[in-house]
Amino acid sequence: MADSAETDWVSRFADEVISEAERRAPGRTIVCASGLSPSGPIHLGNLREVMTPHLVADEIRRRGLECVHLLSWDDYDRFRRVPAGVDPSWDEHIGKPLTSVPAPPGSPYASWAEHFKAPMTAALAELGVEVRGISQTEQYSSGAYREQILRAVRKRARIDAVLSRYRSKQVEDYFPYKPYCDLCERDLTTVTAYDDETTELAYTCECGFGETVRLAEHDRGKLVWKVDWPMRWAYEGVIFEPSGVDHHSPGSAWIVGGQIVGDVFGGQQPIGPMYAFVGISGMAKMSSSKGDVPTAADALEIMEAPVLRWLYARRKPAQSFKIAFDQEIQRLYDEWDALGRKVAAGQAQPAELAAYNRAVGTAAGPLPATPHPVPYRTLASVVDITTGHDAQTLRILRDLDGVEALDEARPRLDRAQRWVDDHLPADQRTRVRESPDQELLDSLDNEEREGLRLLADGLDDWTLEGLTALVYGVPKLQAGLPADAKATPELKAAQRAFFALLYKLLVGRDTGPRLPTLLMAVGADRVRKLVGA
Ligand SMILES: [Zn+2]
Repeated sequence: MADSAETDWVSRFADEVISEAERRAPGRTIVCASGLSPSGPIHLGNLREVMTPHLVADEIRRRGLECVHLLSWDDYDRFRRVPAGVDPSWDEHIGKPLTSVPAPPGSPYASWAEHFKAPMTAALAELGVEVRGISQTEQYSSGAYREQILRAVRKRARIDAVLSRYRSKQVEDYFPYKPYCDLCERDLTTVTAYDDETTELAYTCECGFGETVRLAEHDRGKLVWKVDWPMRWAYEGVIFEPSGVDHHSPGSAWIVGGQIVGDVFGGQQPIGPMYAFVGISGMAKMSSSKGDVPTAADALEIMEAPVLRWLYARRKPAQSFKIAFDQEIQRLYDEWDALGRKVAAGQAQPAELAAYNRAVGTAAGPLPATPHPVPYRTLASVVDITTGHDAQTLRILRDLDGVEALDEARPRLDRAQRWVDDHLPADQRTRVRESPDQELLDSLDNEEREGLRLLADGLDDWTLEGLTALVYGVPKLQAGLPADAKATPELKAAQRAFFALLYKLLVGRDTGPRLPTLLMAVGADRVRKLVGA
């Protein structure tokens, strides 16, 4: 991998980051960074904030260089609002740091911030994303940024001048530091006086409290966001940190930060590509039922880590894409399996191969894989039909694909099961009939009866290929055509009619899982019984 520059967007950024790091801080560990706010469930869309620097940092490590990926948890930010579904009495905590707000009722975690960090931390571990988490509460309240805070306050007129370029009206007495009230812990404070000589700072709070502190010793407050971000670029020596489109408009944190970081903090803005929005398809039902937003953990319930990684690796940050919770996931898995076959055959293009390798493992090694990867759509059909019954599932998977034990098909099997349980709409679930539809059977004409008898007689070749040939072959045979006859419009119509009849008899609907898979799942004896032969 060492010299494989220019194969994909990740290696191009890695090249750029490495040479920039050599220029800025030769011999030092390269720093990539992300930031997340645990103000609520972390939306799956925000995973790109972490995946983009992860892939670049991982490529740098693959080349044998030291690289750290910092994940700043903005847990010292204020609690802004009580989300739907949480006791409205939580509004007494609005304005406190997220680490000072109690976790939602029933949570095992000590604070609001910890409660929402935990599932994201677990998802990142499952994805093989190696980060060094930094709690901004710990940083600020331990005084780690004291020098930087004093510097920002000393140079507040310059910061104000930068900000004022983007403001329509002037702000009086701009102050870049916001104290949290010592009495009520909220940030409903106003700085009323500041002495540059002594660093004495007076503030009042809406709760009625007020005091004078020495900023040089104060560690209950934080820099405002547009100053905090460039401060951290300088403090941590960040070389690479991407951000979302919303940070790149005039006057936004990225633009303003770029003008503040050198002047005020003596640092440099990182290389920071803007990443496009990641959408979610098929989540409407779930979000309304759970009163929740889709998270990385939700995605990992229905797809394996390498597949989720692949979505990010194969698209440049500027390209938007969607993560499918609907039927699209089956097509995604088909594509993924096709790529796997291409890679195994040595036929993948360099960029495809790079994305594949980034998906299946990291510099630390391969991620867990499914030993016997039966197609996802087949697994979904099988668990749909068997309603997750293990012995039945194993019998079908053995017949279908030679699976000897269910563990061979895991974890993909479990992901497909979860998808069927949580995301396959009830009206698309398959229910194999318990008893024959006698009324329908009695209404059939001779030709239809003959077709069903031919099917029942042909069930001996109990393989996917055999059953496929059988269901397509019966209408040919009835039309007096040879088995290898080309499809004509008449033949296609006859096949469609035959398939619809089979679906009706087997599952009571006009459509269903692919017929050979369905026949295999239902079993020969039950098929014979349901088609009345
Ligand atoms: Zn107060």
